[in-house]
Amino acid sequence: MFDTLSDRLSGIFTKLRGKGRLTEADIDATAREIRLALLEADVALPVVRSFVAALKERARGAEVSQALNPAQQIIKIVHEELINVLGGEARRLQFAKQPPTVIMLAGLQGSGKTTLAGKLAKWLKGQGHQPMLVAADLQRPNAVNQLQVLGGRAGVEVFAPEPGNGVGDPVAVAKESIEYARRHMRDIVIVDTAGRLGIDQEMMAQAASIRDAVTPDEVIFVIDAMVGQDAVATAEAFRDGVGITGVVLSKLDGDARGGAALSVRHVTGQPILFASTGEKLEDFDVFHPDRMASRILG
Ligand code: GDP
Repeated sequence: MFDTLSDRLSGIFTKLRGKGRLTEADIDATAREIRLALLEADVALPVVRSFVAALKERARGAEVSQALNPAQQIIKIVHEELINVLGGEARRLQFAKQPPTVIMLAGLQGSGKTTLAGKLAKWLKGQGHQPMLVAADLQRPNAVNQLQVLGGRAGVEVFAPEPGNGVGDPVAVAKESIEYARRHMRDIVIVDTAGRLGIDQEMMAQAASIRDAVTPDEVIFVIDAMVGQDAVATAEAFRDGVGITGVVLSKLDGDARGGAALSVRHVTGQPILFASTGEKLEDFDVFHPDRMASRILG
């Protein structure tokens, strides 16, 4: 991820090395090149625009610092603006005052929700919590089974409809799971919901009904970082259709251009909470905007 963008940026910075002072023309040329590099990395246009505007303004007003040469000054500004785009400070999960804390996962089919449910459960268990997984994705035939396998690996109980009880109503399952969690002293409930391959009214309505049934403390939108420009429309649909409080980027281990990762915070207005970087339960970590920005700069 980000290899092309990293290479492009480092090429741009190299051209600035050895310059004694940046003229207005230097700043304009640099801003143009950075704009192109971001667009080619599939970063959404509004995000690119505000990034470049901030860069230009800050480069023009940059104090002539004794410590930094012009190239270093531009690198510093780009680094700080990348951190801004990625959300500034890392944000922790919000826990309920009265347990159980309810975390609902939403996103398109294949985005990595079910895998994330397992990762999150394992991670929370490692922090001393008593999480429980809820199989409210009854759309995909194998989703319940997949969650049970992941729950088994994480050593976390999975609440699922009884086999043979028909297709089952995901809203009812989700609602019952909260009662069950209360009775069995589970302090965190992670609800996996159904996605579709594309944005779909019925899926959105079901997700909204599950949300109303469980009143989640977090609604986490899971987005596949490989999706490129489609990320914006998908993120907007979930923001408006379900209402989200945080984002998880999945498949950051892929070789996509990284535009989704750099756009989703701006588009949703919500922080990126975690990053998923592989298929194994351990391939998962809290998202740190500053570390990601440093990685992009290489
Ligand atoms: P869901 O339909 O949203 O529940 O998506 P799944 O959790 O079933 O994930 C879809 C596919 O992506 C599965 O084959 C997962 O193993 C894979 N996957 C999930 N997260 C990651 C990740 O971070 N990196 C990689 N490389 N694969 C992932």
